[in-house]
Amino acid sequence: YPAVKRKYCREDFQVKPIEEVKRLATFSSLGVSAELTNILKDHGIYEPTPIQEQAIPILHEGQDVIAQAQTGTGKTLAFVLPILEQIQPDGYAPQALIVTPTRELALQITSELNKLTEHLTGIHTLAVYGGQDIQGQLNKLEKQVNIVVATPGRLLDHLRRGTVSLSEVSLFVLDEADQMLQFGFMPEIKEIIGQLPERRQTMLFSATMPDEVRALAKRYMTSPRNVKVRGSDT
Ligand code: ADP
Ligand code: MG
Repeated sequence: YPAVKRKYCREDFQVKPIEEVKRLATFSSLGVSAELTNILKDHGIYEPTPIQEQAIPILHEGQDVIAQAQTGTGKTLAFVLPILEQIQPDGYAPQALIVTPTRELALQITSELNKLTEHLTGIHTLAVYGGQDIQGQLNKLEKQVNIVVATPGRLLDHLRRGTVSLSEVSLFVLDEADQMLQFGFMPEIKEIIGQLPERRQTMLFSATMPDEVRALAKRYMTSPRNVKVRGSDT
């Protein structure tokens, strides 16, 4: 009767120790505002993923973070939520810059931000990437933009033309840093960082942590805290 025996296995009825239950994080317990927590619920997002659980509280403290977790583990929200908590809705110049390796990722992050800010007043996100009419991007840059989500090449075009200013950027995200390295974007990244204010919070997210990415973090980040979700490679 193995099936029957399995059915009534004692472990199945064991209650989780109270500590374990208590430790389950919610977005609220990580310091995410009630307003954003409710918006997340409306989009079917109820519980933080492990990388969100680890990174969000540190980012709320304003510290630099190096976060490593595999693809598909929710790294985007791990930086998007703390950014949304910190953005001042007034002001025209971008306060947050998210640099990501591909146009697809730039569009994905932008749509995630737009979904969350749809009902928040005064937060505007602009995607800046190659292969898209630069004039359209220029027109939008003349309006209020709080968050810029960009691929490195097109952002540099704008910086060289003087059509985007990074002087008010206090929140900087280097997304999918290992892919940036693979695509040969390190020189562009360094040039972009060179134009950012020294006083800023820097967040580096990556699935893997090659030496060159570590070296970049060491050079451009301030006492970064490391968070890593087990199971990610290297
Ligand atoms: P990564 O950057 O780590 O590859 P993403 O941030 O793109 O992963 O997230 C992958 C998917 O998981 C997305 O569709 C996202 O909406 C979803 N997701 C993120 N966080 C949560 C969560 N806390 N609960 C449920 N789904 C989530
Ligand atoms: Mg990602």
